[in-house]
Amino acid sequence: MPSSAPTLRRITVLSGGVGGARFLQGLLHGLRSGVVPGGSADTEVTVVANTADDWWIHGLKVCPDLDTVMYTLGDGIDVERGWGRREETWSAKTELEAYGVEPTWFGLGDRDIATHLVRTQMLEAGFPLSQVTEALCRRWQPGVRLLPMSDDRVETHIAVADPDSASGRKVIHFQEYWVRLRAEVPAEAVLVVGQESATPAPGVLEAIAGADLVVLPPSNPVVSVGTILGVPGIREAVRSTAAPVVGVSPIVRDAPVHGMARQLLTSIGVEVSASGVGVHYGARSAGGVLDGWLVDAGDAGQVARLEEAGIRSRAVPLMMTDPDATAAMVAEAVTLVGT
Ligand code: GDP
Ligand code: CA
Repeated sequence: MPSSAPTLRRITVLSGGVGGARFLQGLLHGLRSGVVPGGSADTEVTVVANTADDWWIHGLKVCPDLDTVMYTLGDGIDVERGWGRREETWSAKTELEAYGVEPTWFGLGDRDIATHLVRTQMLEAGFPLSQVTEALCRRWQPGVRLLPMSDDRVETHIAVADPDSASGRKVIHFQEYWVRLRAEVPAEAVLVVGQESATPAPGVLEAIAGADLVVLPPSNPVVSVGTILGVPGIREAVRSTAAPVVGVSPIVRDAPVHGMARQLLTSIGVEVSASGVGVHYGARSAGGVLDGWLVDAGDAGQVARLEEAGIRSRAVPLMMTDPDATAAMVAEAVTLVGT
């Protein structure tokens, strides 16, 4: 039977947690069902995941975005919550509380703890995070090659007001800002500790340079995609790849669909709108990272601003309500940048 080689042999996606994972689910569905132009079930997908949300808690190394992608694509996710394991139980959390061990605001489920135990033991035995992730994925078979952005420790910290301190502010881990404070207080600054001296994990730069398409899913532009691009070498790789680079707005009708993008965008001085984020990423022709940027159908009025900034843009439905809707969004993204 005659068959033509797909034009999209390799796709590389820079992903955060829940938003990125949901997008990837739709991307894989679209490739398998043939709705992505030039793609097929044979298209190899590499995911470069944010690891700046990672932290150590109760002696365990926790990597929320890597695990959200791994569990979502490996069919182990709690679909309602969007993170963590399905059919989770919380005995360890209850026992830790009974001992009065802090922090009590960050819950680790019993099933999830097994993942963190395996990871922590392997790290302590000397394996880099990228190899640990590969080992964990042998169980989950996510259908993508999952790479941490870096094997080095990089952690997002947030400066918040603190009337009790002499400086008037304190710096807390991103998890404390997000989970304990629920991002309800302004983020005065975003500090990505360890980023300047971090290097991309093995395979990351090659996956960007060797891709036929690079995608920025609707992940958080500051603490997901922003931290990945901030690892020295990654932004340059995205700027210089021969592949087109296309992104999807996480902001729909001037509000993030979920999560804390508003506070964080505001703290780095970026307008909370689909075009505000697109212009913040910038056109590759003008030193930025984008060739194309999809905005929601309700934001059609912002397409002209993006095009003026040198970014190809189109307004299409951007709600990831189910894998079919997300696959249709992926098809639009591919068409937009003409691969
Ligand atoms: P996190 O690491 O778990 O916060 O997840 P990500 O950074 O990958 O994605 C979070 C972003 O996904 C938020 O800024 C949301 O606005 C965005 N998001 C979530 N659901 C949707 C959706 O259905 N459509 C779009 N366009 N964005 C979404
Ligand atoms: Ca995250």
